[in-house]
Amino acid sequence: MKVLIIGAGPAGLSCGYELVKAGCEVEVYEASPFVGGMARSFDLWGQRVDMGPHRFFSKEKHINEFFTTLVKDDYTLVNRLTRIYYRNRFFHYPIKLFNVLWNLPLVTIFQILWEYGRIRMFPYKNPVTFEEWVSNRFGRKLFEIFFKHYSEKLWGISTSKIDADWAAQRIKSLSLWEAVISAIFGNKGDKHKTLLDQFAYPNHGTGTLYERAAAYINEHGGKVNVKTPVQGIVQDAQGKVIGIKLADGSIVTADRVVSTMPLTLMVKSLQNVPADVVASVEKLYFRNTILAYLEVDSLDLFRDNWIYVHSPEVKHGRITNFRNWSKDLNGDKKTTILCMEFWAFDNDPIWKDQDENIAELAKKEIHLLKLVPPQTKILNAFILRVPRCYPVYETGYQVNLKKVENYLDTVENLLPIGRYGSFKYNNQDHSILMGILAADKIMQGLDTDLWKINTDVEYQEEARIKDVLIQ
Ligand SMILES: Cc1cc2nc3c(=O)[nH]c(=O)nc-3n(C[C@H](O)[C@H](O)[C@H](O)COP(=O)(O)OP(=O)(O)OC[C@H]3O[C@@H](n4cnc5c(N)ncnc54)[C@H](O)[C@@H]3O)c2cc1C
Repeated sequence: MKVLIIGAGPAGLSCGYELVKAGCEVEVYEASPFVGGMARSFDLWGQRVDMGPHRFFSKEKHINEFFTTLVKDDYTLVNRLTRIYYRNRFFHYPIKLFNVLWNLPLVTIFQILWEYGRIRMFPYKNPVTFEEWVSNRFGRKLFEIFFKHYSEKLWGISTSKIDADWAAQRIKSLSLWEAVISAIFGNKGDKHKTLLDQFAYPNHGTGTLYERAAAYINEHGGKVNVKTPVQGIVQDAQGKVIGIKLADGSIVTADRVVSTMPLTLMVKSLQNVPADVVASVEKLYFRNTILAYLEVDSLDLFRDNWIYVHSPEVKHGRITNFRNWSKDLNGDKKTTILCMEFWAFDNDPIWKDQDENIAELAKKEIHLLKLVPPQTKILNAFILRVPRCYPVYETGYQVNLKKVENYLDTVENLLPIGRYGSFKYNNQDHSILMGILAADKIMQGLDTDLWKINTDVEYQEEARIKDVLIQ
């Protein structure tokens, strides 16, 4: 069995790793010079950084085996602190009731309670949008404070157009009432750390995991080719997939192709795709990220691993502080690297703007939020553009995605997986699981429905970290 894998991110490499272990012939083709995809780590100003925050967590046995076998004990259990910055105040995330009450004016608290009571009596019957789903759970006022601004910055569309799917996948399904009960009565004396309190982080960056997976593949008879972009899929006269076409025009043949390249581009490379499927795939679109890294001449800016910036007066939406992850990331450096995230579509002016202008904007905004004092020097700036990193869950996207999924199920020997490979808003663990299950499907001839992989985040976060990582 020979398998070609397009893309050396978490999905492609976990799949390649499992296939090589099972004795399969594997070739991975990666467009960029690096492995790890969006979860890669790299050197910047003499230390290691990730592409924004990369918290790894999973309760799933196979995913944790993948992590622990490759990372071994070369990881740190990081205490998690992530807060929301809104109107010059910090709010804990996940939301803590007393912290919210402490931070907000009395009149706003009354509005929250009023709106919550109102929605409990008159909820949206079938919440289909993000706005309806969150309002049903927390009330309109809390929605406006904690969900609306951030979500609209991230997605670039109104929350009344974002599908409820995103909320259901990403927001802990805690109601306001449950939050009150847990704030008053605590967590029933359970002193164990949960995946919410701590997470396991490879000492030299999240990308270590994928560098090691790629090394394993290369050392065990497989081959990871970097700087080798794939142009598209090659099919025979019956439409059966027989290989891939590289950007240099050469063709590589195999028994199966696993694709983690953007679903939209991959489908366009197939032959004789029905017009309605083409029309559907054209309606699926992605949001881009601009990462603005700043090197600040200070060791002590703030304690968070990352901060969600809801404040509507600034354009960025999240800030990572790489000083608060593992000691090994920073080495002997006496400065702090921050990474600010701006989100954009291809046609937005900021996406096309020059790096220097974006760097200036980042500096201006970090001072505006007073997270870096005005007298503290910003020594360096670096801008990194990440195209197509968020599949946009606009209301109704499932209809289009389903049509594409149904069609691709009829294309023999092709397995699309991964974050933009299958148009799912995956974390690393979801992409790793897709990779592992795709390998099982190939080797054992299973009929696993890979489109359905979408692990239950809340269930995972409640898991005790002791149960899943520390033996
Ligand atoms: C800013 C940011 C923060 C994040 N934070 C977290 C977090 O805290 N925790 C978490 O678990 N996850 C996080 N993620 C998500 C995580 O990075 C992704 O889920 C994961 O990287 C997806 O893996 P993948 O293999 O599916 O896709 P990718 O990582 O995108 O890998 C796909 C690979 O395919 C390659 N490729 C594309 N087209 C071609 C082609 N034509 N030919 C050859 N190669 C090609 C790409 O170069 C890439 O290397 C974050 C992502 C971003 C952008």
